[in-house]
This record gives sequence, C-alpha cells and structure tokens, in this order.
Amino acid sequence: MPIKDSRPPRSRQVINLVFLIASGLLFLNVLLPGVFGSSTPKEPYSMFIHHVQEHEVARASVGQNEIRYQLKNEMGEPGEVYSTTPIFDLKLPDLLEENGVEFAAMPPAKNQWFLSLLSWVIPPLIFVAVWRFFLMRGAGGAQGALSIGKSKAKVYVEDEATRTTFDDVAGVEEAKTELVEIVDFLKTPKRFTDIGAKIPKGVLLVGPPGTGKTLLAKAVAGEAGVPFFSISGSEFIELFVGVGSSRVRDLFEQAKKQAPCIIFIDELDAIGKSRSSSGFYGGNDEREQTLNQLLTEMDGFNASENTIIVLAATNRPETLDPALLRPGRFDRQVLVDRPDLKGREAILEIHAQEVKLGDDVDLHAIAARTPGFAGADLANLVNEAALLAARNHRQAVSQADFSEAIERIVAGLEKKSRVLNEKEKRIVAYHEVGHALVGAVMPGGDQVAKISIVPRGMAALGYTLQLPTEDRFLRSEEELNGQIATLLGGRSAEEIVFGSITTGASNDLQRATDLAEQMVTTYGMSDVLGPLAYQRGQQNMFLDGGMPNPRRSVSDETAKAIDTEVKGIVEAAHQKALDVLHRNRDLLEEIAQRLLQDEVIEGEVLQTMLAKVQSVATQTAAA
Ligand code: ADP
Ligand code: MG
Ligand code: ZN
Repeated sequence: MPIKDSRPPRSRQVINLVFLIASGLLFLNVLLPGVFGSSTPKEPYSMFIHHVQEHEVARASVGQNEIRYQLKNEMGEPGEVYSTTPIFDLKLPDLLEENGVEFAAMPPAKNQWFLSLLSWVIPPLIFVAVWRFFLMRGAGGAQGALSIGKSKAKVYVEDEATRTTFDDVAGVEEAKTELVEIVDFLKTPKRFTDIGAKIPKGVLLVGPPGTGKTLLAKAVAGEAGVPFFSISGSEFIELFVGVGSSRVRDLFEQAKKQAPCIIFIDELDAIGKSRSSSGFYGGNDEREQTLNQLLTEMDGFNASENTIIVLAATNRPETLDPALLRPGRFDRQVLVDRPDLKGREAILEIHAQEVKLGDDVDLHAIAARTPGFAGADLANLVNEAALLAARNHRQAVSQADFSEAIERIVAGLEKKSRVLNEKEKRIVAYHEVGHALVGAVMPGGDQVAKISIVPRGMAALGYTLQLPTEDRFLRSEEELNGQIATLLGGRSAEEIVFGSITTGASNDLQRATDLAEQMVTTYGMSDVLGPLAYQRGQQNMFLDGGMPNPRRSVSDETAKAIDTEVKGIVEAAHQKALDVLHRNRDLLEEIAQRLLQDEVIEGEVLQTMLAKVQSVATQTAAA
C-alpha cells in the first residue's frame, strides 16, 4: 500500500559519504601542502646563498615566504627547480645582481589565496560532515542525514485493490456519517465553494485507543481517492529545537503539491498539549514552536484553493491547546467511541471474513461476551481464535476457539483497562438507571439523553448523559438539591437492588459533596450559616506554606457547622433518591434489564421509558 516513501533514497547517503571523504582529503591538502601539494625539493637558505655565490643559479623568484630558484645544469642551461624559505635579508637583491642571477618578485600565487581560503572553509565543512555522518548512523541509517528537517510522513496513494473504504469500518456509525461529508468536500470541492461555503480545514477524531481512528482517516482518503499523508505527532519532535517546526512546514509543502489530499496527524496531543499546562517554568520550547508552526500552516493555506483536509486523532482531547480547536483549525470534532453490542457484531463480521469460520460460530454471542472491547481488540480476538484453531490442526475456527481467545484477551485487558464481568455489568446497569430515574423527576434537572454501560475512557464504567434543554445561568437551591440527589441515584440503586455498595460511586460522591459544600460556603444557601461566603476567593499558594486552603479561616465552631450542614444536604438528597427509586422499583428493573441487553438506551425509547417515572412528594429537607 505505501507507494511512495518520502524518505531520502539510499543514494543520498552515499553522496553524503563521498562528500565527507572528499572534504577530508582537501583538509589534509591544506594542512600538509608538502604531502599533496608542490613537489619542489627544498634546500636550506644557506645552500641557496652558496649556489648564488658559486654562480649556479639561473633565475630566482623571490617571495615573502618562499624563494624558488632554478639551478643551471652541466651545460649552463636552466635545469632543476628548488625552493627555500628566506630569512630577512635586505642585501639579497644586490647579491643576486652581482652574481648574474635573473630575478623577480614572486607573482602573487593564485594558488596561495585559494588555499588559504579553503583552509578557512574546509574545517567547518568537515565538522558539519562528520556531524551529519554520525547523525545519519544514529538514526539507524534509515533516515537520511539530509532529511533532518523533512517530514517523515508516509504517503499512501489509493490503489483499487487494497484501499480502505468505509465498509472496512463498523460500529462507529455517527463518526462515519460525519466523515462522509468530508469525502464530499474532497471529491467535489467546487460544489461547496461555488455557493460560497468554506470547506473545513481540520477534523479531530476523538476516542479511546483502538477504536478505529486511523482506520477511519484512511477510509476517508480511500473513499475520496486522494493521497493520504500520515504522520504521528511524536515524530515531529526530536532532540533539536526547530526540527519539529521545519518538519511541519515541509509536510504542508509536500501536501500542497499533491492537493487535494489528506494530512493525518496521529497522536495530536504529542504536539498539541495546552501551552498553559506545561507548567510554571515555561515548558517545552520545541513543542511550542512545533505547535505554533502547525497553527500557522493551518491558517496559511486556503482550503478552497488547495483542498487539503487535516485529520487528527487523539485520545486526550482535554489536554489540547484551545488554539487548536478554534474556528478555522480543528473546529470539527468527531467522537469515535467504543462500539456497542451491534457495533461489535458488525466489526466481528468484517474481521471474520479473513478467517474460515466453523458452522457453530455465533458472532452475536461473541459480541455479547465482549463489552468494552474496542475495534482493535475484536480484530485481535478473531486472529487469536484463528491461531488457536491452527495450533490444534483444525480446518476452521470454532466457537470454542473464540471462547478461549476471549478469556485470554480479557485477562490481558483487565490489567490494562476495564472489562466488566457479568456481575459488574449488572451493578453498573442498575447504577446508571438509578441516576437516570432520579434525574428524570428532579426539578430543573437536565434531560437524560443517553444511558450506556459501554465503558468509556479510563474512569467511567458506564455513564448517564444529561443534556441541558436550554442555557442556564442561575440555579435555584431546589435544583442544586435535585442535582445532588441525581448524583446519589446511582449508589442508591445499588443499595436497593444489591443491598450493598461498591467502590464505583466514589466520583459521584465527590461531586455531590463538592456541590453541597459550595451551597453552604459559596452560595449562602444554609439557614444555619447565613448568607456568608466562607470560600476564599483567591487561593494563595505562597501564604499558606504551599498548601492551598480553599476555606476562609473560620473558627472551629463554624467549621463544624459547615460540615454538619453539608452532611445534612447530602443525606437529605440521598433519602430523596432512595424514595424515588423505591417508588419506581419495577421501572428500575425493567430499564436495567433492557440496558443489560442493549448496552445503550437513548432517544425515543429512553424518553418513553422515563416518562413513566413517578415522582414523590418533595419532603422538606431535614437540616
Ligand atoms: P486507533 O487509531 O483508534 O487507535 P486503529 O484505527 O489503529 O485504532 O485500529 C487498529 C485496527 O483495529 C484497525 O486496523 C482495524 O483492523 C481494527 N479496528 C479498529 N476499529 C475498528 C472498527 N471500528 N471497525 C473495524 N475494524 C476496526
Ligand atoms: Mg491510531
Ligand atoms: Zn454514578
């Protein structure tokens, strides 16, 4: 598939080596002219004077540093040439004249100044050559020395037989829908520019590792039939400051020549980390320069003239510099999440085409057993199963092979990330439905838009997505109480259904407590403490011995009162959540079962279910 590799060919390295050797020889030549330079035999000055006095010298040319003279041969004709180094002697012209030597001053030797010039130029050249030589070898020989500032982008050009298309990607339907549009831009930019629309320059694919971001980027290129420059963010950064930015420049230059095309920057976070987050002492200059160059390049090209679309991937969008996400840069973000049950089955179908399947294989059952697997894990699963079958000399992959492969992979994954077993999956399902039910009846609560038990990111096992129905800037006390109850809904459901609680709710509790504390100390919502702000506005790191203390210095009594108030608010909310769930126990069961089956519930289906939630008469919060 890689058709053209932009790395320098081997011949470059050879040229480099020749260059190195040649300049080395020149250097020696300058330093030791006696070895490689003039071959005039030398004689001491006294010898020369002696020759003159003996009338043996035919002619001489006198220079400051050298006298060359020609001796007469036996027939008295000019013969061999010698040279000597003169001493300062004002009487020399007289002496030569007296002895009938034809003499002249030495012509300014062209050779001489040329050589002295070289002696200035060559040593630095040698230095550079040696440096390059070692660099070239240091880079494992694969990377030509001349390409230090060149981008290492690999270029893929479509090739009917092997090109990647959207058919190779499954389980990420939303992302696909968004990217189909990008393909349109690349294929028929005119349709958009004619009407005056601006073609987006940057699209950011966000999602956990192995969910198919790279694959999607390739598929976009494949569908549009344009070249695809692929480079990883970390490849921009090298030891030398300035290399990264020149690589970025080079990458865009190459791309402009091949437009329309796609530039794909994998691991964007390696260069795009927020500049402010790099800490107290300024941070990483090289990365900043590279990032700035990237921003400049993205602003610099006109997407309507050279249709270049920059796709980038990251699994840590929150660390990216906000400048990258501004309009005109990566202003489109496409979420590439772990697949749900249906998605996993579809991905398995794609990868199962590559192996011979036995009759007993049930891909749906396999998908059901692999929650939390990303696309790459599933591809790996199919391959592992095939390896097992081959090892056991079977002709086709059986369901048993898949089972064994799942166990192996899960064991590996459990160490790295999160794969839920059946029991955990049940707990998470009830927990999330608990949030949703309480959230549905709380005043001013945001609409519950999605419940999922597909693990997401590193922290969340499942999640309940609440979307605000309108922009809100003020929240009433009642609504804040409702939010706290919603946060506690997950834990309350665990209590009701399983009679015990797990560690899964720690983040919920943290947020609920923080919110309650804010109500008391910042918003003055407590009757006991009154409308006072106990929160320190500005934390001063230096005054409190480095430990920020968010609270104003308060008396012990007040501190105690704050704690009691906070506890009261949280406990009241907890009770409210329990009440709602007890009242709707059957619905909790119904939705949780449905969630266990489908893993994700959203849209119409969810709204119909949540419409059935019965609220309880709001009790006055027991303070
Ligand atoms: P990412 O870039 O998100 O880390 P990749 O695109 O590199 O993930 O995925 C690695 C491999 O896993 C792909 O080459 C493909 O074989 C498989 N894969 C991942 N996601 C999918 C998917 N959604 N559909 C089909 N195959 C997938
Ligand atoms: Mg990738
Ligand atoms: Zn929760």
